[in-house]
Amino acid sequence: MIPYGKQDISQSDIEAVVQVLQSDYLTQGSQVPLFEKIVADYCGADYAVAVNSATSALHIACLALGLGEGDRLWTSPNTFVASANCALFCGATVDFVDIDPRTYNMSVAELAKKLQQAKQNNSLPKVVIPVHFAGQSCEMKAIYALSQQYGFHIIEDASHAIGGQYLGSPIGGGEYSDITVFSFHPVKIVTTGEGGVATTNQSKLAEKMQLLRSHGVTREPHLMTQPLEGAWVYQQVDLGFNYRMTEMQAALGISQMQRLNDFIARRAALAQRYNQLLEHLPLTKPFQHHDTRSSFHLYPILIQTEHASKTRLEVFETLRAQGIGVNVHYIPVHTQPYYQNLGFSEGDFPEAEHYYQRVMSIPVFHAMSDAEQDRVVQVLKQALL
Ligand SMILES: *Cc1c(COP(=O)(O)O)cnc(C)c1O
Repeated sequence: MIPYGKQDISQSDIEAVVQVLQSDYLTQGSQVPLFEKIVADYCGADYAVAVNSATSALHIACLALGLGEGDRLWTSPNTFVASANCALFCGATVDFVDIDPRTYNMSVAELAKKLQQAKQNNSLPKVVIPVHFAGQSCEMKAIYALSQQYGFHIIEDASHAIGGQYLGSPIGGGEYSDITVFSFHPVKIVTTGEGGVATTNQSKLAEKMQLLRSHGVTREPHLMTQPLEGAWVYQQVDLGFNYRMTEMQAALGISQMQRLNDFIARRAALAQRYNQLLEHLPLTKPFQHHDTRSSFHLYPILIQTEHASKTRLEVFETLRAQGIGVNVHYIPVHTQPYYQNLGFSEGDFPEAEHYYQRVMSIPVFHAMSDAEQDRVVQVLKQALL
């Protein structure tokens, strides 16, 4: 099977993890702060807070921005469920903004329209989470301008997008948002096994997220609310969680980050090659906005069901039967049973649904060879006939 995505683990990655296992600290040692510094420096952010998953990072990012009961969070329906669930973890309500049919990211025009209506109904969101789908940045300048006009916070869900760029700068620098969240799940660009990082330029937000990832407990005198009795003292000043990343995970991340630019270059080369090899077929290749440089976490194609003789399901099954591990990203979140029970219905976000009917992610991963890619293209051509 040629998978749609796969981690790439080198001998140095393995040695880095083994070294930690032989050291004194498996958690709360030197590796997590070093990993945070490397991610912050790469992105051009002032602070990075590492946790055990992007889902946890989204949760504490929402809490740090004060999201709670009675508040609203908006995100894209074309995402993994975690981008929406984080609102519900905080007792807030969630709604969606339909996608741009070219980029498959949150549509700025739809967002502007929905904000105008929400303002009239007194139902503006407190937080908006644009998702950089497949590794391509959303139009952050325009979304940021709307946040200034309507007064909402922005968390970028960049789970797909470490190493990607927007207007010539790395995603995660925080020029157009409060917090950016990355995932280090094995299927993403860089892995720590499980893991997430939140970057920000606001010291208050970084401090709050550091507290929340570790029980709301601090040893920092300036964060304590009662006088210090002695050096043993820690104080719980908030209600937090155990969302800490381990030293093994951070060591793997540090080692992997050294190859991030290679990972991005190979993915870009594979995408470029697909663009050429898939010319003149009844499918739509991923459009690239000129403001962006994608990290190509995914290479999603849309089967032009009007021109192809096969349905998406038929093409999908033919590829799977021939050992090509295609996948579908994403089932629109609002059509999930849990969200239907919250009152969402099919038809609510037609562009995301239209897209979902046609989309398929074909394999792209660091170690994929040209020969493997040729095989994917050959089987895909046959399947479309
Ligand atoms: C993978 C992913 C997440 C969740 O990441 P975890 O690290 O697995 O918690 C959130 N949002 C998007 C868009 C993702 O792809």
